[in-house]
Amino acid sequence: MTVLGLGDMGSALVRALLKAGYPTTVWNRTADKAKPLVAEGATHATTVAEAVAASRLVIACLFDYKSVTDVLDTAGDALTGRVLVNLTNGTPGQAREFAGRYDVDYLDGGIMAVPPMIGTPAAFVFYSGSRSAYDTNKQVLEAFGESLYVGTDAGFAALHDIGLLSGMYGMFAGGLHALALVTSAGVPATTFAPLLKRYITSMAGYVDGMAEQIDKQDYTINVTSNIAMQSAGYANLMLSAEEVGISPELLAPLAPLMARRVADGHGHEDIGGVVELLKKGKK
Ligand code: NDP
Repeated sequence: MTVLGLGDMGSALVRALLKAGYPTTVWNRTADKAKPLVAEGATHATTVAEAVAASRLVIACLFDYKSVTDVLDTAGDALTGRVLVNLTNGTPGQAREFAGRYDVDYLDGGIMAVPPMIGTPAAFVFYSGSRSAYDTNKQVLEAFGESLYVGTDAGFAALHDIGLLSGMYGMFAGGLHALALVTSAGVPATTFAPLLKRYITSMAGYVDGMAEQIDKQDYTINVTSNIAMQSAGYANLMLSAEEVGISPELLAPLAPLMARRVADGHGHEDIGGVVELLKKGKK
């Protein structure tokens, strides 16, 4: 196997391959980062072309898509006919455009783990693009964690990846707001954190009911708390922020969306209907 990119994530991928017993060739722009991996059994290639030529399966894990093209454009003909798995974070559009750039069997991937999780059962990775590239290399790829193939559309791994990251950052936004609120009133973050974790974990279960509403475009099913009530309660989040003197900017955008659903006559329905407003695009 060949791995291009030995940052925090690329190095973790190499270690997982070595641990699983796969001979691995590595390349990195800053060559020094290869040293510890060579000490652990990897082979260092000094040029991209040499690294690519060393293996049928080439894995790229670089900073962004531009860095991947900067690197692979120097490989010349060495890439032709190889399997290229790009585990660099990007958008679905970038992945689709990139898929046709080189004469390779292309798989795009989205890693749903941080480096210390790689190679543990907690890690999973989305793949999309060439089905044959996935089927042939699934066993090797599972050295990183569970592999989930999400379709022949090369953009789908990024779509799923960005979807999960969107959920995560939404949760972080709420968590940061909550911690700013309580600590500004003197409650230690460490006292509040276990309560935050407990409540967020129990509320995560509501996503299933929302998903059913969204697929059926029926926000009158699975209603446990109607949006008119939630919209009025949400106003108190904004007022409480004002009272303690913290900025409401992380949570403020949801308030007018909820109010619009209520004003449009959907007050008896669930909050899931906000998706209908988002799908209309920017106002
Ligand atoms: P790092 O910042 O640790 O490493 C970045 C890597 O990209 C280095 O190998 C760096 O080389 C290389 N690089 C940057 N720009 C260029 C360039 N123009 N030409 C050649 N090489 C370049 O990032 P990570 O390893 O953490 O992340 C790599 C990818 O994995 C990213 O797309 C990231 O989003 C994704 N990822 C990371 C996760 C994480 O928690 N770390 C989680 C999930 C996905 P050099 O050493 O020479 O600077």
